[in-house]
Amino acid sequence: MTLPTLPEKIIDFHVHLFPDRLSEAIWKRFVSDYGWPVLHRLYYRDCLAYLGEHGVAPVVYSNYAHRRGVAKELNDWNLKVLDEFPGLYCFAACHPDDEDMLSMAEKLLEHPRILGFKLQLLVQRFYPHDPRMNPLYELVMERDKRLLFHVGTGPVGNDFVGAVHFQKVLERYPVLPAIVAHMGALEYEAFGGLLEAYPNLYMDTSFSFLPGLGAMFNLDSDFLERNQDRILYGSDFPNIIFPREDEINQLLSLGLSPAFYGKVFRENGLRLIGQHAHDLPKSSSILSMSSSPK
Ligand SMILES: [Zn+2]
Repeated sequence: MTLPTLPEKIIDFHVHLFPDRLSEAIWKRFVSDYGWPVLHRLYYRDCLAYLGEHGVAPVVYSNYAHRRGVAKELNDWNLKVLDEFPGLYCFAACHPDDEDMLSMAEKLLEHPRILGFKLQLLVQRFYPHDPRMNPLYELVMERDKRLLFHVGTGPVGNDFVGAVHFQKVLERYPVLPAIVAHMGALEYEAFGGLLEAYPNLYMDTSFSFLPGLGAMFNLDSDFLERNQDRILYGSDFPNIIFPREDEINQLLSLGLSPAFYGKVFRENGLRLIGQHAHDLPKSSSILSMSSSPK
């Protein structure tokens, strides 16, 4: 059997760019907290160069504020990086312990290439249904932007993550435009059920198809095919402990339909960028840039 092919350029919807000093702190935490030596210790410019050389364009990155008072500095940095790299899109940082969270968010969402906010609840340690977040969720919906959630129990859980908590947000806001990172790891079935119940939900593949971790995703190919319009390729680059190609090859080895690979690696990402990045013409010219696999 010949392996399916990928689009000529693929979109990575889950890249992490941080200021150099914070990148170093995160790489240390990966070792101390999870015993994971990060493979690609690349600072942001080197990350983008590496991805560009490996056929990734455009790149969608995120970062998050691990505690109060950090979001402002991170977002000032995000604005500079977006200026420096015109082909880049961002999920910006916020934290509900910051009194100015909402006013900061209002301003940031005016930037055409800020697609919304990243919430990393394992690190940020608040509930997704924390009522302080409701005004932010409502603002994101009003502005036609999106949220990227790390809200699953992988690689480890705590009080604030898990499908039961996330479901409460969706019960309150059934059309919340959100992406669940890591296919909802490790509760694939519960998050898979939410994906099928809530039409504005997407998932990204990061960390879930790495053979070195046992290619943990455990729902069948039917699930992937059925939901091929709402799955995005993402890598978690550079904070990964195995080569990013391993995950791509694992996905290819599943032998899914050409439509699956075309959509997951490119078309779905282009559609979301077209929806949330308001500077792009919403015409078919964006979509015609995608080359579907033969
Ligand atoms: Zn991540």
